[in-house]
Amino acid sequence: MNRAQQRIALRDYYSTNFEIDGLSAVIDFSKFSTREFGFATFDGKFFRNISFESPQVLIDYLVDRTPFHAYIGAVYGEPPSREKPIHKLKWQGHELVFDIDLNEYDAVRKFVCSCQGADQVCIRCWQLINLAIRIIDETLRFDFGMNDIIWVFSGRRGVHGWVDDKIGFMLNQEQRMSIIDYLSVVHGEAETARIQDRSKLKYDFRYRIEHTVFKYFLNNVRRKDLIKLGFNASAASNIMKQLEHQEGQIDENLLRNFNLRLAKINKYDEILRRWVPRIDHKVTIDLRRLLRLPNSIHGKTGRVARILDPSKIFAFNPEEEPSIF
Ligand SMILES: [Zn+2]
Repeated sequence: MNRAQQRIALRDYYSTNFEIDGLSAVIDFSKFSTREFGFATFDGKFFRNISFESPQVLIDYLVDRTPFHAYIGAVYGEPPSREKPIHKLKWQGHELVFDIDLNEYDAVRKFVCSCQGADQVCIRCWQLINLAIRIIDETLRFDFGMNDIIWVFSGRRGVHGWVDDKIGFMLNQEQRMSIIDYLSVVHGEAETARIQDRSKLKYDFRYRIEHTVFKYFLNNVRRKDLIKLGFNASAASNIMKQLEHQEGQIDENLLRNFNLRLAKINKYDEILRRWVPRIDHKVTIDLRRLLRLPNSIHGKTGRVARILDPSKIFAFNPEEEPSIF
């Protein structure tokens, strides 16, 4: 599809299929007119400090201008505009957001699937994203008491978590940073990144992370992964046979036994390092951050940044998402 055809596809999408109601599930429409928006055009220009009187005016803009990318930012004391850019306005809140992208996993992704190249994604490496959602979502609910959490497909290789609780909306940068610290187990992207010593922290969190990671690992493991880890052929076959009997419901004894065997071959940390959530810190702590507009089109892939149905999050497969191009 050439550029002109892509613009027509975008216009069709924004005039007939763009679900503004879905957006109201993610952001509070009562503060709509003082919210910042930003757009990238087809010819590579980028504009921010834009605001809209109402959701309908935003839709009209999307249909008229067919931006390549559309973004949404924080709420301010007055409507942002070229004359009144955001740095001159009083900041009045931004949802607590999390950006999880396979880019952050590139150093460890090779152990999980055989995707090649920066832009690839498959259902196997998507399990890394699913696992991060599972751990972060549970931790925000149980340890921070947040309830209103929505996950949105980024349109390419990741997801954005939007926490809509009032308390999250007003958190300052320092507070957001300390939530990120709490959730960070691995420091750095490398294969050998340091693992945070959690032994002094609350038992619940350590338990949740380790329990979730290793159960997930066992549910997705293949015989060849075990061999690569250093198990000999008969040990690998033996573990696979035990897993077959479990039919996806890993029991505690098997889990404990497997973890002991992993520790014996010195691979316990390695699994943890591969599978723990890797969050892009910069996105969470930046109070004025623009994030892809939920339900808008990702200009490179032509896929909708779809709001994920909470009951079907883990059934989502990015490879099956249609492209409007
Ligand atoms: Zn992959």
